Order: sequence, then structure tokens, then C-alpha cells
Amino acid sequence: MNENTHLVCAGRHPERFGGVVNTPIFRASTILAGSMAEWEEMKRARAAEEPGATTYGRYGTPTTQALEEAVAGLEGGYRSLVFPSGLAAVSTALTALLSAGDHVLVTDSAYSPTRAFLERVLARFGVEVETYDPVGGTPIEALLRANTRVVYVESPGSETFDIQDIPAIAAAAHRHGAYVVMDNTWGTPLYFKPFAHGVDVSVQAATKYIVGHSDAMLGVVTCNRETWPLIKQTTHDMGQTAGPDDIYLALRGLRTLAVRLQRHWQSGLRVAQWLELQPQVEAVLHPALPSHPGHALWKRDFTGACGLFSVVLRTSSRASLAAFIDTLEHFGLGVSWGGYESLVIPFTPGMGHTVHRWPYQGQAVRLHVGLEDPEDLIDDLRRGLLALSACDSEAENEKAGSGEICHS
Ligand SMILES: *Cc1c(COP(=O)(O)O)cnc(C)c1O
Repeated sequence: MNENTHLVCAGRHPERFGGVVNTPIFRASTILAGSMAEWEEMKRARAAEEPGATTYGRYGTPTTQALEEAVAGLEGGYRSLVFPSGLAAVSTALTALLSAGDHVLVTDSAYSPTRAFLERVLARFGVEVETYDPVGGTPIEALLRANTRVVYVESPGSETFDIQDIPAIAAAAHRHGAYVVMDNTWGTPLYFKPFAHGVDVSVQAATKYIVGHSDAMLGVVTCNRETWPLIKQTTHDMGQTAGPDDIYLALRGLRTLAVRLQRHWQSGLRVAQWLELQPQVEAVLHPALPSHPGHALWKRDFTGACGLFSVVLRTSSRASLAAFIDTLEHFGLGVSWGGYESLVIPFTPGMGHTVHRWPYQGQAVRLHVGLEDPEDLIDDLRRGLLALSACDSEAENEKAGSGEICHS
């Protein structure tokens, strides 16, 4: 089945719900059995993991199962589990796989709360956490130890957009008996197929493109056959579950994922190409640009790009950065991404990185290019860059003893 068709059909069973197109929002804690025999049968079906089987709202309802079934199919994994946030999905998957005495390798460019979870929480339980350079430095093979249980990858990396060689990392990890856990939020289940590239567990912050409208928090973990029992057990042991309204929003977002992403990709690349030509820009970190160091790997392994990338500005001034951001009208200043709207957020390059050197000089922002007309976004950025230049030259004049320093 073509993927666009799959997106429309995935996880939908109208015949079970009186013909209603969308799986209804099931609000449930207690699920009644009609008799003792039926209760025994419900418990048996849940233990046997039969489709639709549940005994309690925490273990999922038809609403939960619709999203799990859809995402597992799209990612190309065995089964999925839904979580109340992307970070809950990450932390539960890692908790399921790691025990005291184990060693975990985490990419330096991982989403920083993921690293914080490993370093602040799992380290307290005796897990040894080591960061590695996502793109170069010591080959992963040389870092793998007898007790390395997980290699955590995120490609492209948060903020830096480094592309990792996932098949090579997975081959090395598997030679040493380690699992590969991937944050696949940027690639989405459409543009990167984790299991076809050797990944054992894939995490989606569904909050981003799957929900797609900045109105719900949700995460999904997708497992292969081997990791499924471990992750499912820990998820249930930890009481992880998500609310039906948020799951419904994710299912609704999923139906338009392909068309939205197509536009995010086109507009994002158009904006990135324009930015690359501007004198105020030091670098644009977008894997689909031929200038990106990871471009060849991106072309080999990905089938598209989303609307998220970073821009390094040719200024070291915080005031000029503020002049740029405060001039923007279509880019909201805030975290997260994947909604229909454009966003900008400043970040401190390489902050928290321990092994990967950041090669750029200037102030940096991450942009999310939304579904607005890209020409309007470019006009907005043009005004922002002019404000940045004006602020930079005012500061120059001030240094030379004339004019006022800009306050922005
Ligand atoms: C946002 C994000 C997460 C966490 O998702 P939440 O739903 O906000 O908890 C994880 N990984 C990446 C790459 C993200 O951007």
C-alpha cells in the first residue's frame, strides 16, 4: 500500500464503531465484564496481546490502540505504546532497557532533556552515561564496551542538525550486543524508516508533527519484536498512559501528516536557501542544503525534510540578536515545533555538549517554518536582518564614540 493511503487507513476500524469514520474518544478507567467467565476471558486476551484486548483504562482503550497500530505501521516496527509526552516516551524506553552496571552511549546532540534524564536520573540508579560525538571523533566501535546496553541516536541532532550514520552505528552496536534507541521526531515516521536502518526502538515526540497543531502533548515508542516485551512491561510497571482527547488529536493530525510535511519541507528549504545568501548569515544548518556536512547521508537515508533547522548569524551581539527576533512578526518566540505556525528560538551553540566542537562564531537561532506563504516569511526575515544590521552598526558607531547603542 502506498504510504499516503496507509496514512488515511491506519488504525481505523469503522466496522467496530457503527460505521463511524474516526475511532471515537473512549473515556475509560473501569471496563466491565458481564460475568466471571467473561472477566477471565478479558484477562486471557490481554495477556495474549490480542487486538483490542484490555482490562483497564491504563492499559489502553480502542482510542489508544488506534494510534499505536497506526504509528507502528508507519515506522515499520512491531508494536507501539503511547505516552503523555515525548520525554515520557524517551525516559520509559531507556528505563526499560538499562539496569545498574550498564553503560549507555548518548549522542552529544541529543535533545537536552533526554541527556538530563540519563545524567540526573538513570545515573543515580547505577547506569554509566557517556556522550559521544554524533559525526566524527572516536568511532562508535571504539567506545562500545562489554556492558554497553544502549546506543542512543538522534538524527539530525537537536539544534546542530548533524546527520548520523545510523546503519553503521547500528551494525557496530549489534556486534557488541547493544540496542539502538532513536529519537526520530525530525524525520517523522514518513521521512526516515528507523527499523529499515537497524534501529531497535524508535521514539516520536508526537507533540510535534503528528499532533501538528500545537494543542496537545504526546509521545510514542515503537519497538521491534525483541524489545517489545521489555518496554511494554516497564511502561505498565510505571503506570504510563495518555489521555483520550490528546490521542484523538494525534489521530486527527496523522491523516494530514503527508500533505503538511510536504509544505513544511518545500517552504523550509526555500527559506533556508534564501537565508544562506544573506550577508548577515554565517551558516544555515539544514540537512537538505548541499552545503550541509551531512547532506550526502541525508540523501542516502531520508526521503524528505521537515521545517526545522538552525541559522547562525554573523553577529556576536545579544542586542542585535534581540533586534532580529523582536522585529519578526510571523515567527513566534517559543519552544516546540511541528505545528502549523512558524517559530524562532535563540540557543547557545554547543551548550551542554561535551565532545562535539561547535565550529561557528555567531549568535544562533532555530527556526520552524510553518504553513504560511514562504514569501511572507522571507519578507519578515528580511526586515529582521535589516534590524540586526542597524543594531550592529549603531554599536560600531558607539564604539567609535558617536551615536547611541541600540536598545532592543
Ligand atoms: C520536543 C522533543 C522531545 C520531547 O517531546 P515532548 O512531547 O515535548 O516531551 C523529544 N525529542 C525531540 C527531538 C523534541 O524536539
